[in-house]
Amino acid sequence: MVPQLVDRVFDCVDSLAGEAVAFASNLVRIPTVNPPGDFYPDCARLIGHTLATFGFEVEYHTAGDRPEHNAGHPRVNVVGTRRGRAAHPLVHLNGHFDVVPAGAGWTVEPFGGNVRNGRIWGRGACDMKAGLAAAVFAAEAIRRAGVDLSGTIEISGTVDEESGGFAGIAWLAEQGRISAARTDFAIIPEPLGVDRIAIGHRGVYWFEIETRGRIAHGSMPFQGVNAVSHMSTVIEAMRRHLEPQLAARVTGMPVVPEAARYATLNINAIAGGQPIDGIQTPCVADRCRAVFDRRYLIEEPFEDVREEIGALLEGIAATRPDFEYALRDLLVVPPTRTPDDSPVTTALENAIARVLDVPATLVASPGTYDQKHFARIAGVPHCVAYGPGILDLAHQPDEYCEISDLVNATKVIAHGVLELTGSL
Ligand SMILES: [Zn+2]
Repeated sequence: MVPQLVDRVFDCVDSLAGEAVAFASNLVRIPTVNPPGDFYPDCARLIGHTLATFGFEVEYHTAGDRPEHNAGHPRVNVVGTRRGRAAHPLVHLNGHFDVVPAGAGWTVEPFGGNVRNGRIWGRGACDMKAGLAAAVFAAEAIRRAGVDLSGTIEISGTVDEESGGFAGIAWLAEQGRISAARTDFAIIPEPLGVDRIAIGHRGVYWFEIETRGRIAHGSMPFQGVNAVSHMSTVIEAMRRHLEPQLAARVTGMPVVPEAARYATLNINAIAGGQPIDGIQTPCVADRCRAVFDRRYLIEEPFEDVREEIGALLEGIAATRPDFEYALRDLLVVPPTRTPDDSPVTTALENAIARVLDVPATLVASPGTYDQKHFARIAGVPHCVAYGPGILDLAHQPDEYCEISDLVNATKVIAHGVLELTGSL
């Protein structure tokens, strides 16, 4: 290792800090709210222009064949490539630029991009526009320090992570733009905390249960079969029998917060009988639907997860002769884990030790992020999430990112890129 080279790059990160903050706050000012996917082309272009200024070759990739793409809300992704002395090793830095809706409870302007008290404020400041800024300015600091990378750096800004990433990273992977042959390492600067590296996430199983009854006059409910009371039986069985079992299953992955190390079940939505705001007539509810979100562990085979729900429903059917139901899968995302001792993890551990003088903590995310698409579709297992900002602030009112976090994460990413490309 040549210490002077690293110090030069770090000095450049420091002198670029003002520009990096301005870039992040300009990104926050573009309200790329998803759903529905507002202002994607504007945000892609801002990232693309900046990358072009910083010596990247820039491509725009529109996921025109995805059902969520339309003229009003085009799904535009941007990818920049800056080749060093060789095509490989190639490090891909990926950030999603969509944000969740602002919601209520803000004391600052959600899309003002204000910089105050050493923080960048606004929806997306931490999740994850500061992360995108860290990626872009890590690359620029390397260039301004006059380092000719031994490998190649790519940076992408992608859409729709908050709604599954299907027109974003998943789509780029399906097109082969991100692939095992091309992409050696990937870092996703999600806001996991500047001294933490995320090595994956739990699995997701969204399913819908529909219970069916028989309509009858509401004054004589005994003449019908109530689908809502069927559903309440389902939910009661989950509460009494399934949830205690789930709470006893703990993963070996370092999921944070600790309570998310267990298998969990959430009721996302429920609707039964007549529309609640409609004019009511006296009728027995003949139909009820509910959507459930089961987070499963890497130790749980998906077939078992699904079978467990099926068995619960069959158990009810065996004791309630009029119980009719349908179970429908809505979404399945397998759990993902970076291989142990992956070079990308080691490089970031080294970088965190160097920049922050603390040992890195390996964590896993309670929810999923785009790592699944790198691993499953692109076939790039050497992928982690590492970036500035505090996970707990993501999706909250008064979201912010500390500027010191942004600067430190930029240094860590720059150091990681230098090591992974063999440029140290
Ligand atoms: Zn995010």
